[in-house]
Amino acid sequence: MFEDNYRQRGLRNKLVKKLLEKGICDQRVLAAIGKVPRHAFFDDALLGHAYEDKAFPIGEGQTISQPYTVAFQTEKLKIQPGDKLLEIGTGSGYQAAILLEMGAKVYTIEYNRKLYERTRDFLPTLGYEPYFFYGDGSKGIPAKAPYNKIIVTAGAPVIPTALTDQLAEGGILLIPVGDRERQKMLRITKVKNELKKEEFDSFAFVPLLGDQGWK
Ligand code: SAM
Repeated sequence: MFEDNYRQRGLRNKLVKKLLEKGICDQRVLAAIGKVPRHAFFDDALLGHAYEDKAFPIGEGQTISQPYTVAFQTEKLKIQPGDKLLEIGTGSGYQAAILLEMGAKVYTIEYNRKLYERTRDFLPTLGYEPYFFYGDGSKGIPAKAPYNKIIVTAGAPVIPTALTDQLAEGGILLIPVGDRERQKMLRITKVKNELKKEEFDSFAFVPLLGDQGWK
């Protein structure tokens, strides 16, 4: 049975402090990290590590992203309550939970069938209810477009044109782009149908697979 006791809340507060020290300053992002019980996303064997600022395996060769990475991407997306958001790479569902805490309406897509099924069944038990999709998110979800925000949580070789096409006017795409080992975090903003590109730090994500990802 899932339990969120004072010890876990204490560890979560420490993690929030660490993220603040590392430069995350959006109070709404920090509040969301302080609220979502990251330990609920961990297997028993790894439970003691849930509030370390590290990525961890979630099975199927995939990972739950490092809290700093989740906070960094969320901050750069400038989430507003009511934003219609597409997440590529549902994984454990932790990032989706943070985005829901911040008031976004979340569509999330996962390419790995087992992870998709597991997270679709698990996340609502914590009270987080995004719209779940199974398939190749490198093509976006055209049927639900346009989106105010798109977040890619896997490393891409290029910026998929399908994703920029599905951005609304004023919309933001946040995507790590590079080689298989390291990627630069890019923020693409669509203004009057032009794409403005900004570059941030480097990260190490698992590869984005699929049509506009790695083969
Ligand atoms: N956002 C996740 C979380 O909060 O746990 C972390 C995601 S993990 C770093 C990257 C995920 O992207 C993996 O679950 C992987 O299966 C998924 N993925 C890779 N290529 C994909 C694609 N083309 N479409 C959708 N998901 C993809």
